[in-house]
Amino acid sequence: MNPRWNGQFSRFDLVANTAESCRSVVRVRDIEIGGEDFVVMAGPCAVESEDQLLRTAEAVAKAGARILRGGAYKPRSSPYAFQGLGVEGLKILRKARQLTGLAIVTEAMSEEDVDLVAEYADIMQVGTRSMENYSLLEALGRCGRPVLLKRGMTATLEELLCSAQIVAMAGNPDVILCERGIRTFETSTRNTLDIAAVPVLKTVSHLPVIVDPSHAAGVGCLVPALARAAVAVGADGLLVEVHPHPEQALSDGEQSLNFREFRDMMDDLEPYLAIRQAPARLRPQLIAAGGHD
Ligand code: PEP
Ligand code: MN
Repeated sequence: MNPRWNGQFSRFDLVANTAESCRSVVRVRDIEIGGEDFVVMAGPCAVESEDQLLRTAEAVAKAGARILRGGAYKPRSSPYAFQGLGVEGLKILRKARQLTGLAIVTEAMSEEDVDLVAEYADIMQVGTRSMENYSLLEALGRCGRPVLLKRGMTATLEELLCSAQIVAMAGNPDVILCERGIRTFETSTRNTLDIAAVPVLKTVSHLPVIVDPSHAAGVGCLVPALARAAVAVGADGLLVEVHPHPEQALSDGEQSLNFREFRDMMDDLEPYLAIRQAPARLRPQLIAAGGHD
């Protein structure tokens, strides 16, 4: 391992990849994240109505997603933007799980919301704006559900792992890291997908790593290309925004895929996923050299 990385990350002893650690597999119902499977989480940015969510749940399940995403509590950059349906949204998510069997990932924005969201969610999402909310992280450490920890949009990987360590220290080892793009000087995309973050994180940490190409791109047409990149660099899964009518979405419509686009993206990923299953001699080195398996 690059000695610089080693020195930087090994102090986060519960989440660092060391000679003693083995790769974490986060289990959610019958799904394993960080194991053999590439796990796709998909759904709308926000739960807007029962009809919108149930139709989306059915479509993404049919296309191969295993986990349904959808925000009931929405952290928005603008105070004028749609803030989510709150507990009503959580109830709709629960109904979608009953009808489709999909597991649910949804965001808890504050410490006070944690117990309520944990009653409905299978995975607790921490948004980019909350990555350094330490009282939220500590509450999530005690919530009894896996945590999907999104990288802060201006956070280094060291800071991301520091937040993961806080959740683990508070008693919850089931953390999934998510690269969702960071702020740079580039303006043609909403954020800049730091694709190198995936092999770096998989080298310095034993936690699963997924990619959110939707918030990274900010435009739907780039999402399939970034998803392919995520497969190629060894990510354990994706978090993708899908909406029945992206042009009518109350939030993040520009970066959402419609059902057909999502299906096409899933089909297009197949050959890339097949390479990962191929014997080692046929496939590119997926994990940066020097990591412990
Ligand atoms: C989201 O997943 O809809 C979201 C708000 O993401 P982020 O926190 O990465 O902006
Ligand atoms: Mn969104």
